[in-house]
Amino acid sequence: MKWPTQRCAWCNRPGNALRECTVRVWKPIAAKEETQTLRVHPEHEAAVRGYFARQRRSGGPVLYTVLGVTLLLAVLGNALGVLIERLPATVGAAVTVSIGSLIVALGGLFFVHPLPTDVTLKALGIRRSVRILRVVSVIAAALGGWIVSLGMDPIL
Ligand SMILES: [Zn+2]
Repeated sequence: MKWPTQRCAWCNRPGNALRECTVRVWKPIAAKEETQTLRVHPEHEAAVRGYFARQRRSGGPVLYTVLGVTLLLAVLGNALGVLIERLPATVGAAVTVSIGSLIVALGGLFFVHPLPTDVTLKALGIRRSVRILRVVSVIAAALGGWIVSLGMDPIL
């Protein structure tokens, strides 16, 4: 998928005065940088350059943290599902609180460093992609908070 040529890469709106802008982009699957040329409104060029500069710095660490934590959550979640009946209530509660806390942490990480996919960026524009991911990360953090409260219940 290519960047649209008629719409601004930042706000996804058409414009006559779109300017070409060449940026270095970090590619998650290949885990390497690549040069991409996109079109932006002149007033949005600084925002686009800032976005890709942050994406290059934080993309790798954020992605690997998210993958690692997700794997840990899957393992913890399965272990909890199998063992919950046999575990002492306090251990079960501690695991529940840990899982909830990890989800809150993931939500927070994604809020600060959203990592939209290339396809999303090109289809929706960078600004909207980042906003959508921030809304999703707030929902995830709220869900994590609710799980933490479930675990806290038997302790309190
Ligand atoms: Zn724009």
